Amino acid sequence: MLGAGVRDTDPPTLFDKIISGEIPAAIVKQDDKMMAFKDINPAGPAHVLIIPKDRNGLTRLGKASVEHKEILGHLMVTAAEISNDKSLGFGDGARIVVNDGPDGGQEVMHLHVHVIGGRAMQWPPG
Ligand code: C5P
Repeated sequence: MLGAGVRDTDPPTLFDKIISGEIPAAIVKQDDKMMAFKDINPAGPAHVLIIPKDRNGLTRLGKASVEHKEILGHLMVTAAEISNDKSLGFGDGARIVVNDGPDGGQEVMHLHVHVIGGRAMQWPPG
């Protein structure tokens, strides 16, 4: 039996191991399609990552196609809900970002949405 989010043809990512419970994480919200947990190295007073439980080829946003519309919409609506959650330390708004590939600064190749807040952000990012 495979853990949630792991297809038999895909090697498990670090985030698959969080989904399966092999690696601990501070989970703030989840359902059958996504998990949201606190970033272990927060870039602000509040920093939550939202991941699809079934990557279905979504190692990175640049791999997205029309078949991923539903899960991508679900992740973004979840990002809005989390950014509005004052109990997590968010204020009025957040930096909601997806790092895509090496030039985008992506390190974990399992699509994830960063929701960072609790402080005023600068633009452009580094
Ligand atoms: O977008 P990128 O791939 O760089 O982001 C990966 C994020 O995963 C980092 O912000 C890192 O702190 C986080 N992380 C985590 N828990 C782990 C390993 C990495 O929250 N066990």
